Amino acid sequence: MPTITTRRTRFAPSPTGRLHLGHVTSMLAVWGLAEVWQLAVDIRIEDHDRQRCRPEYLAALRDDLAWLGFQPVRGGRWSVQSEHTARFDTALDRLSGQGLVYACRCSRRDLPPAPSGAEACYPGTCRERGWPLTPDSTLRVRLVETEWVFDDLWRGEQRQRPAGQCGDLVIRDRHGQYTYQFAVVVDDLADGIDTIIRGADLLDSTGRQLQLRSLLGGDTAVRFAHHPLIVGPDGRKLSKSLLSPPVAELRDAGWSAARVRGLAAERVGWQSQPGDLSLADLGRLLERTLPGRP
Ligand code: GLU
Repeated sequence: MPTITTRRTRFAPSPTGRLHLGHVTSMLAVWGLAEVWQLAVDIRIEDHDRQRCRPEYLAALRDDLAWLGFQPVRGGRWSVQSEHTARFDTALDRLSGQGLVYACRCSRRDLPPAPSGAEACYPGTCRERGWPLTPDSTLRVRLVETEWVFDDLWRGEQRQRPAGQCGDLVIRDRHGQYTYQFAVVVDDLADGIDTIIRGADLLDSTGRQLQLRSLLGGDTAVRFAHHPLIVGPDGRKLSKSLLSPPVAELRDAGWSAARVRGLAAERVGWQSQPGDLSLADLGRLLERTLPGRP
């Protein structure tokens, strides 16, 4: 893996639908904090899920991003995850070379029921079964019992124990598709990402991603910032349908990009009014959202 020379972050959308205000909030966070810290920003299209990602969504995503004024900056690059298979294969070989990967034949039904509100934790049923690693087997990586402690910019100190939270991670499914958790870590390492800015819905993934990073020999001194999400009146995350209309519909109805950015900033609570938000004001706006700032 290359040494990190530029401080770099990324915006990593999945083209599984049209961009909505939730995505715009993430863009404000990524480009705003990148301005504050003078980071390069990559745009990485995470199209690893072949069933849900569609070429028309990818084309629309590129249009929407350009219209909203977000593009790679300070030496940032575009990339598309489906072109990174060779990276993923090499990383998989590295983990299997250490005896960390095993084939799993369990179906969802074989998993113990998850306590309400929690995710299912895989109990390691196939760990010692020695099933061959065929192209159509689900592959899992053994996690060791470790507590990961990291500071999150918005949420403060976090402690996560992935082995007890989700158990051994699936890294490739039985259709040969690498999973989000694996692909995102391999890409973040290969791209030299040292600052991860994304929505709070991915906070629980951080410990397992740190563990994968470390198993892959990567530096775990990464800076994390999990930004607040737009929530409904009941304080819960809004579903995609409630975050509608998509950005493209607002644009077609005559909204300006500055007004759409301002609406997202207002909905997430970073701006008291839904007025225009210029790109030049993003750094100042995001700096004010950091804990401990007025
Ligand atoms: N592709 C993921 C998503 O759209 C984001 C991944 C990340 O930022 O780690 O939710």
